[in-house]
Amino acid sequence: MPSAAILTIGSELLLGKIVDTNGAYLGEVLSSIGFDVAARVSVGDRKGATSRWLRLLLDQVDLIVTTGGLGPTEDDLTRQEVADAAGVPLVFNEALMDEIAAIFASRGYKMTKNNRKQAYLPKNATPVSNPVGTAPAFIVKTGWGKTIICLPGVPRELKYLIRHAIIPHLRQAFNLRTREKRTRVLKVCGLGESGVDEQIRDLVDPEANPVVAMLASPGMVRVLITAEGADAAEVTQRIEGMERRIRQRLGPLIFGADDETLEGVVTEDLAGRGFSFTLEDEATGGEVTRLLLSAFKGRYSIRAVLENDTPESEKGEGASGKKPATVWVREIPADRAPLKTYELVMEVSGKKRSKTIHLGGPGAEIRHRLSIIVLDQIRKWLKEKAKH
Ligand code: ATP
Ligand code: MG
Repeated sequence: MPSAAILTIGSELLLGKIVDTNGAYLGEVLSSIGFDVAARVSVGDRKGATSRWLRLLLDQVDLIVTTGGLGPTEDDLTRQEVADAAGVPLVFNEALMDEIAAIFASRGYKMTKNNRKQAYLPKNATPVSNPVGTAPAFIVKTGWGKTIICLPGVPRELKYLIRHAIIPHLRQAFNLRTREKRTRVLKVCGLGESGVDEQIRDLVDPEANPVVAMLASPGMVRVLITAEGADAAEVTQRIEGMERRIRQRLGPLIFGADDETLEGVVTEDLAGRGFSFTLEDEATGGEVTRLLLSAFKGRYSIRAVLENDTPESEKGEGASGKKPATVWVREIPADRAPLKTYELVMEVSGKKRSKTIHLGGPGAEIRHRLSIIVLDQIRKWLKEKAKH
C-alpha cells in the first residue's frame, strides 16, 4: 500500500482562525482510494517552513498532497518551497500564463503583475488546470521518484480538482485498484460490553483485516467485523472466518446480524412456528407489544398473527394446528429496594417457564431494558423449544 502525507499551508490554520477541513477531507479521500495516510501537518506562511517539512515527509512517504499558498501574493510561497524541496528551479510556463490570462479575460478581471508569479512552476512540474479558480495546481515528481501534489486552499476549488483531476491521476500513477470493503454486524443480548470484551478481546486488533470493534447501547452490544479485500469474494471469506470464531465464543447470545432486530427475530419465530400468541406487558409500558407489532407490520396483519396457519409439516399440536403461547411480565413485590422486581412467564401448551428480573434506574430506562430482556428471553425459550 503506498503511503501519503498531507501538508496544509496557511498561518490562519496555526492561529486557530480556520479549522483544517482540507486536511480532514484529504485524509478521507486518500485512505478511501488506497493510501496509507501516515502523517498530517499544518505549517504557517513562513519562508523555509514548508520546504523543511516537505523534506522531512518525503523521507517517510511516497506522496505528499499540499493545500494553500498558491495565490499571487507575497505570502503565497508554496511554488518556491516545493521547488526548493525537490531541488529544482522555478521556471516560467508560457502555456500556463496564457491559460491564466484567458481565465481573467473571461471573467472581466484585470490581471496584475503579481499574477505572472502563478505561471512559474517547479521545473518539470505538470500543471493541473483549475477552471473554478485562478490559482493553478500542479504535480511534481522528484528526481528520486516521490510525488508532491499542490492544490489551492479554497475548499471548493480543492474538492473540484480532487474529484475531476487528482483521483483519476493517482489511481493510474499508483496503480490503485478499487478495493472492496464491507462491515458485518453481529448483535448480542444478555451480556454487557465488558462481558463481550472478555470473550473476544484477543480478536480485537485495529491493524488486522478484518477489524473487530464493539459498540454498546442499552441492553445490547454490536460486534462489528469490517474486512477489506481485492474483491467481494475475498471480503466475504474474511468476514465469514471471523464470524465463525466469534460465534464459537458467544453462541446463542448472538440473536441476529446486520439489519435484524430482536423483535424481528422473535416475530419470525412466532409466526413461522404457528403460535397463537397472547401477551401482557403493562410492566414495560406496552413497549414489547409495540415492538412486536412494528415488526409484523407489512408482512402479516395482526389477525393473521393470532391465527397464523401452521405449515402442514408442523401440524399436530391441537386440532387447529395452532399452539397457544401466553407471555406476561408483571412487577411483583420483593425486598430488593431500590431495585424493582419483575416476573416473566411464558406458557406454551400448558408448560410454564418463568424468570425473575431485578432492575434499577429511571423508569423509562427500566422499561426499555426490561423490554429487551423480555424479548431476548422469549427468543431463548422459543429456541429451546425448537430443539425438543
Ligand atoms: P488563493 O489563490 O485563493 O489565495 P491559495 O491556494 O493561496 O488560494 P489560501 O490563500 O491559503 O489558498 O487559502 C484561501 C482560503 O481557503 C483561506 O482564506 C481559507 O478560508 C481557506 N482555506 C485554506 N486552507 C484551508 C484548510 N486547510 N482548511 C480549510 N480551509 C482552508
Ligand atoms: Mg492565498
